[in-house]
Amino acid sequence: MFSYRHAFHAGSHADILKHLTLIHLLEYLQEKPGALTIVDTHAGAGIYSLKDGFAAVSKEAEGGIFQLLRFIEAGNPTVESIQKYLECIYAENMGGDIATYPGSPFILARLLRPQDRLKLFELHPKEIDILRHNVGELKQAKQIDVYATDSFSRLKGLLPPPSRRGLVLIDPSYEDKQDYRYLEAAMEEALQRFATGCYAIWYPALSRRESAALPERMKKIAASHKRSWVHAELRIENVPGERRLQASGMFIINPPWTLEKHLSEALPILAKALGVDGGAQFLLKSFEA
Ligand code: SAM
Repeated sequence: MFSYRHAFHAGSHADILKHLTLIHLLEYLQEKPGALTIVDTHAGAGIYSLKDGFAAVSKEAEGGIFQLLRFIEAGNPTVESIQKYLECIYAENMGGDIATYPGSPFILARLLRPQDRLKLFELHPKEIDILRHNVGELKQAKQIDVYATDSFSRLKGLLPPPSRRGLVLIDPSYEDKQDYRYLEAAMEEALQRFATGCYAIWYPALSRRESAALPERMKKIAASHKRSWVHAELRIENVPGERRLQASGMFIINPPWTLEKHLSEALPILAKALGVDGGAQFLLKSFEA
């Protein structure tokens, strides 16, 4: 436990899928003026340098955000959701070369309107200190609460939010195999308390039993609460036995009606841009309750 540091994975293909989806969800929910409560159950450090530290060691951003940028700069077509995602990354770098990658807390914080609130959970003893420091530098800091506690057990305490409008990102590291079980329990409780919230769950698409079963488990939970969902997966590589993460997915409960269309436009481009040795694939499914 606690060996996971998100800096190793900042700007990877998995971050691209997760953050592009997240930005679309938030922008859709912000079309209405009512206050939003946004919960990021697994926050990480908030923002990462891509030029030094862990990210420079892993070089995952090379096959992720930098590969995507090269693809677009080469004149390949792009779509609105990819452009909006890249605008957020560029904004963090003041429009210049990308040296810094915002994690979900910074992406969300920068998009907050005055009426919105952001709740961040982080359990890692080093990450929480870095996160608190980073959040303290933001002009939106007063709208943000940071909790150094286990989000799986604490999420229900924040639901339903006062305005009954909410977005919850659940992005565990799955470092602890029990995370799959904790996720299911947390989602059951969350939907009992706040059935109309928008929930975005990230997962690594691995051959491991718990990971392969996760989308079906989420579908069952959504069905038992009569909720709609969208399920997307992006694989960039298909090499058996490879330890690198080759694919990841997003499962969204109560998605906006626009999400499937946006992902159906973005996923083929991401697969083409990020695919390695013809191994790229994507999946997009949905259900309307
Ligand atoms: N959401 C971040 C982003 O997109 O930039 C990345 C988060 S990373 C995948 C997962 C984080 O969750 C790690 O920093 C880990 O320390 C933290 N974590 C693990 N278990 C947790 C728990 N039960 N409650 C809160 N945080 C947890």
